[in-house]
Amino acid sequence: MASPQTKQKKQIATVLRQVFGMEELRDGQRLVIESVLAGQDTLAVMPTGSGKSLCYQLPACLLDGVTVVVSPLISLMKDQAEKLEEAGIASAAQMNSSLSRSDEQAALEAIERADTDIIFCTPERLVTAEFLALLKQSRIALVVIDEAHCISQWGHDFRPAYLEIGAALDALGKPPLLALTATATDEVIADIRSQLGRSRMAVVNTGIYRPNLHYRVKQVTNPDEKYAAALQLVRDSEGVGIIYSATVKAAEEVHQLLLDAGESVTLYHGKLKASERSENQNLFMSGERRVMVATNAFGMGIDKSDTRFVIHLQVPANLEAYYQESGRAGRDGLDAECTLLYYHADKRLQQYFLIKHYPSADELRAVYDAAVALGQRSFTETELKSLVEQMPASQLKICLKMLKDGKLLKRDRKLAYALAPADPKAEQFERMAQVYVDKHERDRDGLEQIVSYAQSGYCRWKLLLDYFGDSPPGFEHCCRCDNCLSPPSIQESPPPLEQITPAPSPELALDLDRADGYTQTPALPPTAAIHSISPSPAEFR
Ligand SMILES: [Zn+2]
Repeated sequence: MASPQTKQKKQIATVLRQVFGMEELRDGQRLVIESVLAGQDTLAVMPTGSGKSLCYQLPACLLDGVTVVVSPLISLMKDQAEKLEEAGIASAAQMNSSLSRSDEQAALEAIERADTDIIFCTPERLVTAEFLALLKQSRIALVVIDEAHCISQWGHDFRPAYLEIGAALDALGKPPLLALTATATDEVIADIRSQLGRSRMAVVNTGIYRPNLHYRVKQVTNPDEKYAAALQLVRDSEGVGIIYSATVKAAEEVHQLLLDAGESVTLYHGKLKASERSENQNLFMSGERRVMVATNAFGMGIDKSDTRFVIHLQVPANLEAYYQESGRAGRDGLDAECTLLYYHADKRLQQYFLIKHYPSADELRAVYDAAVALGQRSFTETELKSLVEQMPASQLKICLKMLKDGKLLKRDRKLAYALAPADPKAEQFERMAQVYVDKHERDRDGLEQIVSYAQSGYCRWKLLLDYFGDSPPGFEHCCRCDNCLSPPSIQESPPPLEQITPAPSPELALDLDRADGYTQTPALPPTAAIHSISPSPAEFR
């Protein structure tokens, strides 16, 4: 008699060969798939290009019931659902706002008939009461959260709708869970576990080191020099590449510069019309344009595996964002160049983005008082909104989540809110607000760390691995980055990034003229949602 493990290994091998036409799993994939099939809640931290999707597609073929995949981008789910159907791997339904009424109806009916193996949805859709009610009629084998770092308030592209996933999973009766992400620090991992209410979630971390990525930083002393350097890099590079800009303005300028220089180039940012964005994306994906100039609105879920270079025109918000964006190069495993153009004044641009409005103790109190004033046993977010009209919806969502975490509000299985029996004191609101004061502090630290990275003379990979707590014992040099190839001076092991960080400037003296000139990317009202720099949330739905 074969043991259950042997039987399972055989099943995996058979499905892998017959359905996916592959002979072998990579080590990381095998660990994740075995953990999922053992019914264990799993968080997989796997670098881009290491075959994350197979980690749920293969179990979906073996598990009894439907697999629900929560995905942040419509383009991403479209792409995955179509690939699955075309390859005959699984029948997939997708639920998002881009569907026509009749397509949506057809998808809903397929889900109702249990006629589908995999359901893709956005987090916004997952947390609606109607969709949850429909899902509750299905036998859910597994819920997959793609790009799970978006759940964490310490993750760099944090999105308020993700805050409600934990409550939605509870409403579904806590089905087994697989969370996938390309990067996560210990802090982000701890936060994902706590936001999802799965403290015992197994973590499979396959490491972030990708020796085919050659990192370098080019110091420039003014914007003209920077643009000239970008043009030169494009001319010197073979193959396709992406240039990331922190602002729409700089993206447009560099796009024009490259066009004038006769380069094959296209453009992507949140201010282009949706049709233009998708047209330009197709030009790049199909190879009709060699270079994509884009803001960070471009790239999540984009799989252009032969990307040979990624150039950053400015420092991004932190090293996680930098690793994720630069890591879109070389997904085919072949050599690729990741270059950061560092101009010291660009730091102020990111500092400007960091000036955001976080819920204060007074605002939390106002939302709580409004809930009391409603005088109802239970209420919805929409009902409450009418009493705090001046507060943007995203801010209200965050306040509600904080009040729930602070145990002043409860949520029922239909995701309606109710007051918890309590008589809160002022300190309680202060304590809750402190969470976001801390977050702001970390955002500032994150920026200091990437500035340190840019100015450091140590091996770039060593710095990245140390940042992610992923440095193998004895790792000192990648032997391929700029600092390894031409060391600035003899240096020993780097101190942790915090220690070489200059103290954060006491209070940001913001030069508004300067900042206005720069900040074309986000429409940045003082109450912009936390970390939703671009794309705008509407773009996701
Ligand atoms: Zn190195």
